[in-house]
Amino acid sequence: MSQHNDILRQFLEAEDVTCPVCRYQLRNLEGDRCPECGKTLRLHLRPADDHLRRFILACVAASIGFGFFGILVLISVIGMLVEDNIIWPPPLSFYLAIAFAVIEGAALVVLLCNSTRFARARAVRQRALALLCWTVTVLLVAAFAAYVLGP
Ligand SMILES: [Zn+2]
Repeated sequence: MSQHNDILRQFLEAEDVTCPVCRYQLRNLEGDRCPECGKTLRLHLRPADDHLRRFILACVAASIGFGFFGILVLISVIGMLVEDNIIWPPPLSFYLAIAFAVIEGAALVVLLCNSTRFARARAVRQRALALLCWTVTVLLVAAFAAYVLGP
């Protein structure tokens, strides 16, 4: 039996743990396979503080903004080309959608390029950054809607 299996066995002697796949009770398991579903089990280390959820939350905010404004720009360009009705210069809302798409896209790139730095930051800073991303996205969408739907 490998050292990993010894450590797994020792862990399962002391803990009431269920299989992550089928929820079968694994206490006193011999070997490294779940007897119920047959999946091979491994012990892993992970940080006690789950930063990944906050990172995904921040990325989702920027992605929603980027996708929303990106699709608006794309629809506008396709509309101009298909309808052969090019209004030049385009309305301010077109430039706003481009600017907001660039802001959200840049935020997403910055987040993805600094994922390690994000992971090392304190939880309170991670929460603040995720909240900032959502606030920016909501404000940009609200500002755009106010401009387009305004008087
Ligand atoms: Zn199982």
